[in-house]
Amino acid sequence: MPADTAFMEKLVALCKRRGFIYQSSEIYGGIGGFWDYGPLGVELKRNIKDLWWHDMVTNPPDGPDGREIQMVGLDCSIIMNPKVWEASGHVSGFQDPMVECKQCKGRFRADQVATTPCPLKPSKMVGQHDKCQLTEPRLFNLMNKTFVGALEDTSSVAYLRPETAQGIFVNFKNVLDTTRVKLPFGIAQIGKSFRNEINPRNYTFRSREFEQMEIEFFCKKATERRSDEATKGEVTDMEWYQFWRNVRHQWYIRYGLKSDKLRLRDQGPEELAHYSKACADIEYLFPFSDEFQELEGVAHRGNFDLTQHAKFSGVDLTYFDDEAWQADQAKYPPEQHKEIKNQEPYRFLPTVIEPSAGVDRSALAFLCEAYTEDQAPDEKGQPQPRVVLKFHPKLAPIKVAVFPLVNREGMPDIAAAIYRDLKKHMTAFFDDKGAIGRRYRRQDEVGTPFCITVDGQTLQDGTVTIRDRDSLAQCRVHKEHVLAWLRERLG
Ligand code: ATP
Repeated sequence: MPADTAFMEKLVALCKRRGFIYQSSEIYGGIGGFWDYGPLGVELKRNIKDLWWHDMVTNPPDGPDGREIQMVGLDCSIIMNPKVWEASGHVSGFQDPMVECKQCKGRFRADQVATTPCPLKPSKMVGQHDKCQLTEPRLFNLMNKTFVGALEDTSSVAYLRPETAQGIFVNFKNVLDTTRVKLPFGIAQIGKSFRNEINPRNYTFRSREFEQMEIEFFCKKATERRSDEATKGEVTDMEWYQFWRNVRHQWYIRYGLKSDKLRLRDQGPEELAHYSKACADIEYLFPFSDEFQELEGVAHRGNFDLTQHAKFSGVDLTYFDDEAWQADQAKYPPEQHKEIKNQEPYRFLPTVIEPSAGVDRSALAFLCEAYTEDQAPDEKGQPQPRVVLKFHPKLAPIKVAVFPLVNREGMPDIAAAIYRDLKKHMTAFFDDKGAIGRRYRRQDEVGTPFCITVDGQTLQDGTVTIRDRDSLAQCRVHKEHVLAWLRERLG
């Protein structure tokens, strides 16, 4: 499918017009790769993060063996000791190849020139214009540098984190020592990350500041499992990998990415990092490109990160499998206990499965999928074009809007009372301005799943009209039962 620039233009305009996404520091001309979320965008993002946290951390699905999964959360600092980034490999290896054009002075990712419009003539791609003079590629580190403390010299250089994952690894021992988690378990974190992307583009898709939702799931590698009866049925590292790969794919489907624009792609052996056994990308066909783009990566990282941090920090980050040792110790002569219990399979660095998602890319995919143009009848029953964001109700920034049909006969007071009651439980919106059709249309455009109208009949029997955003079906519900009715549908 070719890129649909007209679709993107309409979506970007809607996001600006209705307060989902603004250009950062817009009154000063903006700044490339940075975005602000407006009043509705912030609700959308909050819903995504809350659902992720709820579904992955506070109420995760049971594991492949049907047992409850242990998950805990963290919120680490954005700036960490720079050694973290030496150990993780980011200082030496987190770089993209960059080319410069001597003509337009533009800088581009060498692997993306074929899909990057030339600043001199956007109908052509970089390098295709007669005047383009591209340099040889050179490597460019994507980490944002800063200084910590009063001195600005090499001793005070620090980095804004380019991912949240490393904060989890460096706290692995803290979590082990201060909680009662036992393998397998996961540590989750949501937070800002920063990458000095050479070419921030495609709206919020590739930004320089963005939010990630990451899990490091620590488990035993198959060979670390004991071979006796006690390990029968124990879930292997590859089974955990498959589990998370599927759980994360299904999560997007559950919240509305139902179309064939979502796919799960297993990386080929040539794409895998040297320490990784397997990796799958969850990808979405965004309208700005004719190729699928990554929403989330689910990677089997072996014990690479813990090995590196143990090496660079000098701190023992191994896990002691007390349960396995208790079950087995009688097999060994007591004089060997001390030595054996401190070796594999009883003491080891756990294997890690990492589902790593981006909040902003998820928000953009949900917006793209939700954007629909259809027709709805106006007050005279005539079909009129409408724009509607068909968000999953749990993602919708506003859950319900309440209107008085007219501003007289006590309708505004009844509507206001319903609104005040509902807003204690969900994001609600009150609107008494303009024709009722326009008020519906405004709510459709921001994806509000239900609109409640207080009308003449309310004055007689206490019922209100509830209109469904997608089917446009209307039903009457007594005003006392509106909250229960909505709760049933919103979950
Ligand atoms: P890409 O290849 O698109 O640059 P990546 O493979 O470098 O992405 P990861 O390092 O795996 O990305 O980061 C995990 C997730 O963080 C991505 O799947 C994406 O959702 C999000 N992410 C990464 N870089 C950006 C960015 N520049 N802007 C917005 N989100 C990002």
